[in-house]
Amino acid sequence: MLLALLAVAQTLLVWLTVRVEAARAQDNAETVAAQLVGDLRRDLTRAGQQLQALGWGDPALAGWRRGATELLRAHTELRRVERRDASLAVVDTLDSPFGPPLFDHLRRPQLSIEAEAACAAASRSSAASFSRSYFVPLAGGQGLEVVDLCVPVLQAGQQLGYLVGTYALSALLDGALALREDQSAPRVRDVQRYELSFIEGDGTRLARAGAARGAGVYVAERLVDLPGSALQLRVDSMAGRPSLISNLATALVLGLSLALFAVVLLLARDVRRRAEAERALAEALAFRKAMEDSLSTGLRARDLQGAITYVNPAFCAMVGFSAAELLARPAAAGPGTAVSPPYWPPEQAGEYQRRQAQRLATRPPRDALDARDLAEAREGFETVFMRKNGERFPVMIYEAPLVDGAGRHTGWMSAIVDIGAQRRMEEISRQQQDRLQATARLATVGEMASLLSHELNQPLAAIASYASGSLNLLQPEPQPASDSGLPPLPPEEERSLLRQALTRIAEQAERAGRIIKSVHGFVRRREQQHETLGADLLLEAVLPLVRLQARKSGTRIEIDIQPVPPALQLAGRTPRVRCDRTMIEQVLINLTRNAIQAMEAATPLAARVLVLRVRQTHARWVTFSVIDAGPGIAPDVATRLFTPFFTTREEGMGLGLSLCRTVIEQHGGALDYGAAPPRPGAAPGSPRGTEFRFTLPTPRQPDATAAQGAPETGDTAGLEPAERP
Ligand code: ADP
Repeated sequence: MLLALLAVAQTLLVWLTVRVEAARAQDNAETVAAQLVGDLRRDLTRAGQQLQALGWGDPALAGWRRGATELLRAHTELRRVERRDASLAVVDTLDSPFGPPLFDHLRRPQLSIEAEAACAAASRSSAASFSRSYFVPLAGGQGLEVVDLCVPVLQAGQQLGYLVGTYALSALLDGALALREDQSAPRVRDVQRYELSFIEGDGTRLARAGAARGAGVYVAERLVDLPGSALQLRVDSMAGRPSLISNLATALVLGLSLALFAVVLLLARDVRRRAEAERALAEALAFRKAMEDSLSTGLRARDLQGAITYVNPAFCAMVGFSAAELLARPAAAGPGTAVSPPYWPPEQAGEYQRRQAQRLATRPPRDALDARDLAEAREGFETVFMRKNGERFPVMIYEAPLVDGAGRHTGWMSAIVDIGAQRRMEEISRQQQDRLQATARLATVGEMASLLSHELNQPLAAIASYASGSLNLLQPEPQPASDSGLPPLPPEEERSLLRQALTRIAEQAERAGRIIKSVHGFVRRREQQHETLGADLLLEAVLPLVRLQARKSGTRIEIDIQPVPPALQLAGRTPRVRCDRTMIEQVLINLTRNAIQAMEAATPLAARVLVLRVRQTHARWVTFSVIDAGPGIAPDVATRLFTPFFTTREEGMGLGLSLCRTVIEQHGGALDYGAAPPRPGAAPGSPRGTEFRFTLPTPRQPDATAAQGAPETGDTAGLEPAERP
């Protein structure tokens, strides 16, 4: 395409050059012709004046002859001067000394017609007049084309005679040419390059001048308008048609120069662009460097062999090794001889080595497995690194494949965040939470102290009375019948009574022990641990303490656990949850205590019912409800219900509900409340009480005993708390 364009441009250039050259040559010819016409006319007009100046003078011919001889000497083109009388008879003649006499070969009277016609015209107009040109044969087959100029000589209005000058046309042309050369016109420097000629109307050449031969290509013809006659001047340049070859070469050189110039321009532009791009690149690099240096996140790049190819200052600061120390180490000296980076704790090097090998084997998503690995790497994983001083610290690593400009996978880029401080803060916060909850539990138990002592007193009193009864039975000496008024018992009956008493003692001791155990179990501080257990077990564990409180105010307790609907069944018919048992027990204790207390003031004894309800409403969630028949929650209380230390009770701490919400949210569930559902048989308009609800997650995997249950559907996995049942 470019070549074709170049060819067209070249052709056009050649054509234009040829055209311009031709036009200039033609133009030059025209100019030369115009100038020569001017010169010729001036010369001939002057010739007329000079002839006239000879005048008639005195009748003695001597004076006239002198003037005429001088004239002939001065003008080579003037070949002969005649003096004729009024009747045109030749009185005297003089021939030019520069050539053979004109009318030697043919006599003058034979060639006089033209001169006579001119004189007749001159006489008519009383002014100089030219004849038509005619041919004068000379000796040796030669000849000359001449023109006669006839000047009438008048004196006092009377025709005295005529002066006739005969001019050789070729000499006229030579004269004009010589004049041109002298003057050397500015535009036409080289008049010798033209052939000048006078021609007839049909193109026959009459006379020619000039050293050159015209090529007939650039020809200009002009009419030299003379009094009485006219001559056709032809100027023919010796230059032929412009040569294509020379022009082609010129055009080629010109074209190539232009192309070279264009290439140089393009190169210059390219160089400038490159410089600009380099500057932009340098700026981008500087920006990137500043950005990487200012990061507090460690950056590390590894090639596909696991060798570290780049680390940023933050990473060096994190692990305590300099960049040089990290980069110098090869990842593996060869197959089987792995060299671990210095920040890997030696005890875990093996596992890390395995993990690295797995990561390095992963290619940017080639298959589903890789895609999953990649997604995991992007999400980040937690691991432990070692500082130079041997200190271990937890880090979070996010990895992404490094892909070069050609789309090739060249390694892995990792962002490493030191999460030691975060972990410490989390630990402190967890410990504080634990302590707070333990304190809250102690406070709850403290509140229940009098109830507890009362509750323990009963079995203890029973134990004491059974014990004293048994002691009585075991008196060593039999009592006189008169003392008791009763006959002594037979030994078998006595043993049976003793067994009964001891059984009661054991029962009561066990009852007291249960109470102590439930309190102990509730107060005991344990490490947080999540376990999977049935909702019924959870309720059972708190029931002794709930009953303890309920009994005092005469509240009845209803347990309502609905079996899991078959569609949601994963593991058995009882709803099962995954939770930290102690914490959830505490939540249940708090909610039931609040419910019982709410019913203490205004609820009539008959209506005091506490409902503990469990429903599995969703494959992933189990809802627990604690429903009371209290006065409900006033709007001003509702706004601050979950604010820590908000309470309406004198002895209350105001921590119960806020703790409950924290605990449930830590489990991923949600806690809220609302008006209790209307009870069957309740009077319309009577206060409905309050329902506190919370959700707990079901275990993710169905356990082995219920493996035949419906598989867990994945579509509920991303439920937001608001969507949770
Ligand atoms: P405390 O029990 O120490 O007062 P909570 O945070 O458990 O602290 O409860 C805060 C307040 O919420 C209580 O003082 C009470 O006014 C109100 N409240 C809690 N549960 C109920 C309920 N079931 N019915 C009515 N009011 C309640």
